[in-house]
Amino acid sequence: MTMPADSLNHDSIAVTLTKEKVAARFPSAIATLGNLVRIPGIAWDAFPAENLEKSAEAVAELFRSTGVFELVEIRRAEANGKVGAPAVVARRAARNGRPQVLLYAHHDVQPPGDASIWQTPEFQPTLIDGRIYGRGAADDKAGIVTHLTAIQTLVEMVGENFEVGISIFIEGEEEAGSPTFRNFLDANRDILEADVIVVADSANWTTTIPALTTTLRGLVSQVVEVQTLDHAVHSGMFGGAVPDAMTATIKLLSTLHDDHGDVAVEGLHSSKASDLDYSEDQLRTDSGLLDGVSTIGTGSILDRMWTKPSIAVIGIDGMSVAMSSNTLLPSVKSKISMRIAPGQEPEKALELLRAHLLKNAPFGAKVTFGEIELGKPFEVQSGGWAKLLANNSLSAAFGNESVDIGIGGSIPFIADLLEVFPAAQILVTGVEDPDSRAHSPNESIHLETLRGAMIAESLFLIKGNDLRVK
Ligand SMILES: [Zn+2]
Repeated sequence: MTMPADSLNHDSIAVTLTKEKVAARFPSAIATLGNLVRIPGIAWDAFPAENLEKSAEAVAELFRSTGVFELVEIRRAEANGKVGAPAVVARRAARNGRPQVLLYAHHDVQPPGDASIWQTPEFQPTLIDGRIYGRGAADDKAGIVTHLTAIQTLVEMVGENFEVGISIFIEGEEEAGSPTFRNFLDANRDILEADVIVVADSANWTTTIPALTTTLRGLVSQVVEVQTLDHAVHSGMFGGAVPDAMTATIKLLSTLHDDHGDVAVEGLHSSKASDLDYSEDQLRTDSGLLDGVSTIGTGSILDRMWTKPSIAVIGIDGMSVAMSSNTLLPSVKSKISMRIAPGQEPEKALELLRAHLLKNAPFGAKVTFGEIELGKPFEVQSGGWAKLLANNSLSAAFGNESVDIGIGGSIPFIADLLEVFPAAQILVTGVEDPDSRAHSPNESIHLETLRGAMIAESLFLIKGNDLRVK
């Protein structure tokens, strides 16, 4: 449904008031964040499951305490005979044609990692220079507290009888790869169904420039076997007259890129990323590219990382150097990992990759295909009202124009959300900043950035409360 663009603008008095409300609430929000950080809920088998239960219970209690939901529950799904981690769901139905907004975050965290690298205790929230340190302080307990604060601010601004619908889904196993996510969506469709899904689990462009993550690349991986002989033979006897499978494999894999380092598989989709600045120097520093080694590919660096395909060979089963003998290898397996651009169907990309491999097989070598993995890319619905409103809300909250960013990898559960709720507009918003170090030691959240995220989400809900979408 289209919405007149000016109906999505915030008036400056509402923005000022919202900022004041969030500021007043901020100390208690930070205390809540600290309490959550103290619960080391890790959804890996090697860690105690009771911490996840405690964490889910604490999160459920937070949303219960708002008093606005018709239902707040802890639920689990199953997959492959295993019960998943506890997730918190809540729902308050939209009234009078207002949108239903699903707020997603996850309460489980990564394991702490190497304790000797942490400069503060891993599960003890510690404030240093405007950042709170601790495992989960950013990823993704900051997302939970942002949702909570936005709901509380909405109530303060428009009263308890607000009409925008709100659903909550705080997952408990995101860092373990969301094994029961898909089944959970199917089983809880009635609670989670929404017009807009806000996934608060990404980063902003800087601590002061807010961002929406509008594209994610998808993934296609393929194990390929190249065979040239029906058994291994002595290289001194047959070498020079028949090809070995390793040489054939190397020749084949080398056709995957052209001389510029661009992907040479024909027919793959690519597009342009935003014109944000990301210099080659920055890339060199961030990636650890060695002096004298050039970058690969053409087009802007962000295009290359966000909106064009890329290919890497990530494994080869050949002969190890230690075990090698003067033998022509009869067959070699390798694994090709391809990132695909937003807008590309993984099945089509796989077909193009296979066609390329068959066409370029050197010496007529026999090429056969093994295991595959397919993950859909993501692209935000650009004309949707939710995207426009999110941009307006972020810009008003931060006082800086919000920017669209991409991620070169994927967030696998986004594909599940798209599949189960194809009509929903999905917004991937940020609470983190480039220094948050999610998953690494010394994870932290920048307090001013977090406050901006809270203001933006509050504004989004407050304006959403005025919109009639059906
Ligand atoms: Zn996360």
